[in-house]
Amino acid sequence: MQSESLDLDRVRADFPILRRRVNGKRLVYLDNAATSQKPKQVIESLNEFYSNYNANVHRSAHRLGEEATEAYELAREKVARFVGSPTEQVVFTRGTTESINLVRFAWGERFVRRGDTVVTTLMEHHSNIVPWQLLARRKGASLKFVGLEPGGTLDVGSLERLLKEAPSLVAVTQCSNVLGTVNDVAKLCAISRKAGAATVVDAAQSVPHMPVDFSQIGCDFLAFSGHKMLGPTGIGALVARKELLEEMDPFHGGGEMIREVFPDHSTWNDVPFKFEAGTANIADAVGLGAAVDYLRSLGMDAVREHEVGLLRYAVESLSRVKGLRMYGPANPERRGGVLAFNLADIHAHDLSTILDEDGIAIRAGHHCAQPLMEWLGVAATARASFYIYNSNDDVDALVAGLEKARRIFKV
Ligand code: PMP
Repeated sequence: MQSESLDLDRVRADFPILRRRVNGKRLVYLDNAATSQKPKQVIESLNEFYSNYNANVHRSAHRLGEEATEAYELAREKVARFVGSPTEQVVFTRGTTESINLVRFAWGERFVRRGDTVVTTLMEHHSNIVPWQLLARRKGASLKFVGLEPGGTLDVGSLERLLKEAPSLVAVTQCSNVLGTVNDVAKLCAISRKAGAATVVDAAQSVPHMPVDFSQIGCDFLAFSGHKMLGPTGIGALVARKELLEEMDPFHGGGEMIREVFPDHSTWNDVPFKFEAGTANIADAVGLGAAVDYLRSLGMDAVREHEVGLLRYAVESLSRVKGLRMYGPANPERRGGVLAFNLADIHAHDLSTILDEDGIAIRAGHHCAQPLMEWLGVAATARASFYIYNSNDDVDALVAGLEKARRIFKV
């Protein structure tokens, strides 16, 4: 049964790209974990910014400068409210990757010491692994991984064992971009903080899809990307506890982030501006604000309910495709709208090419999660990922495309 939590016809009408045809077929966009499509409200917000009030922010005492500054800071307020954080704790970045690298440099360089342990997990995206490898190597710390249970959930026992090694930092995803597993990050952060570790939550796949509350999670740092939540590319945020932002070193040096500059030293601007050197990505921040307005107008509970419904229908439908193997927890309530699979011994890239002939966009590859691929024992998977504009018809199209692949490959 189609979920009734969203008015799908209305939502779909807001996305101009969904009217386009691919290879003469209706576009079935199932690559939302890579990036989401944009509603006309977001596209128009960019057009309006550049057409009516484009100027630099925080420095010009003219009308356009004031309007641009007001819109940029209003976007920060909207993002903060959306994730349950005070406004001054939101640092605009280019996205999740930059947010995590900001923590690696501005916090890690200062607080991680030789011999420390830094902890991440086997289900992370490379952007929550590689920065910690680089940090550990530079500081003489060791990087350790929380393992997984056979069903694709975190092995909390292995985290508890690593916490006995007094790690300085624990970095974990709220939702896996391959398995879909939703981790109980509030619990993981509570036990990690009790052991004295700072906590980083990768919220790239959660903030766009479910209610997320920074203060309720109780983490030190929360990272996410605008482009996966209906916003433009090149904008995202790091949300962090204010005391930490104040203690940390700056990330980039330059204009905006300083209070005073002398030939031999400088003093820093207040947070969050201390972390926003140079001209900000103003237009895209405004676009992200419009994306947040759009998601709020739907309600994040409704968004989540819609995706759980879709996932349930997809799991049922795909389990009828002979030779298809799905990865991740069985219970749709415990996962995000991401479904990774393989079909017999057909390479995921071939599957994706065959589906593309019928206008169906999925992702194939290692999904920037190679340690997880190794754990799964596969080189690659296909992945369908859902969002607010997807319907059961999209799932039916996917299943028809997979049956076609079976016929072509005779499996
Ligand atoms: N973490 C997760 C779980 C992701 O899915 C992604 C994007 N695929 C990222 C981090 C990186 O996000 P971005 O490329 O927007 O920096």
